[in-house]
Amino acid sequence: MKLEGIHHITAITGDAPRNVEFYAGTLGLRLVKKTVNQDDPTVYHLFYADEKGSPGSDITFFEYPGVARGRAGAGMVHRIAWRIGSPEALDFWEERLNAHNVASKRGPDYLRFDDPEGLGLELRVTETSDEPLRANHPDIPAELALLGFDGVCAYSADPQASARFLGDAVGFTPQSDNEWTVRGAQRGSFYVYDVAPEQRGLNGAGTVHHVAWASPLEEHASWRERVVAAGGDVTPIIDRFYFKSIYFREPSGVLFEIATMGPGFTADEPAESLGESLSLPPAFESLRDELVKVLTPLPNPRAESLTR
Ligand code: ZN
Repeated sequence: MKLEGIHHITAITGDAPRNVEFYAGTLGLRLVKKTVNQDDPTVYHLFYADEKGSPGSDITFFEYPGVARGRAGAGMVHRIAWRIGSPEALDFWEERLNAHNVASKRGPDYLRFDDPEGLGLELRVTETSDEPLRANHPDIPAELALLGFDGVCAYSADPQASARFLGDAVGFTPQSDNEWTVRGAQRGSFYVYDVAPEQRGLNGAGTVHHVAWASPLEEHASWRERVVAAGGDVTPIIDRFYFKSIYFREPSGVLFEIATMGPGFTADEPAESLGESLSLPPAFESLRDELVKVLTPLPNPRAESLTR
């Protein structure tokens, strides 16, 4: 039993319209689901991914309108890396980010920058036989587009304290003292620890809430048993409608989720129009008219660029 790399990553935004402009506009991902937070249906939960909404490409945001910026500290993911296909793609993204007034720092095979609320992002030239997970964007040639997640970097005060749990509970493979990989039959991802800053982390806009790892549907319950057996304090299986989930913290403090690779985002709307209208869990459908009045109006960069 092996996890299939990252399923999705969930972060926090205080400014949903700007978040949509950045992820669906600047980065060219597809807004594949526009739904509400199941704990507070007056605010959004936004999902951006490749064209099909595949696990491995999906970054999601809880909207807390106007919330103050957070700061990554020990026990928090501080950088998210996507794959790109070539050094030419690095050139393209350096120019495109610059044209969108996003400062970036280029390394030999990567480009680092922050999202509008300070979330650390990276594009990495990666050689892999994993399926490229691309979204279509009229201004981004397909061969230069983002190709799905490569991995995440977290801060830890004591990476070794997590070693046994990562190996036993979630089946990660050590690459060095602070670097792990997780690879299933279809996909893999890295999980790296960097030295935590002195300052305590603060949840808020621009911080990662949790990282979810992908499980085939039929293995999900067994993963829960395995986490329990490794001493993890894990939630019951929760039905998130688009996938089923369990949550637990790994010893460094990072909140992990294991999510099923289905049924996926076409469970309640057709693939062609994913993310275009507001999707509500059945329990909130009767509140639709009220919710539409209070939810923040959002731009649609895809429609805007298609009509240009
Ligand atoms: Zn999640």
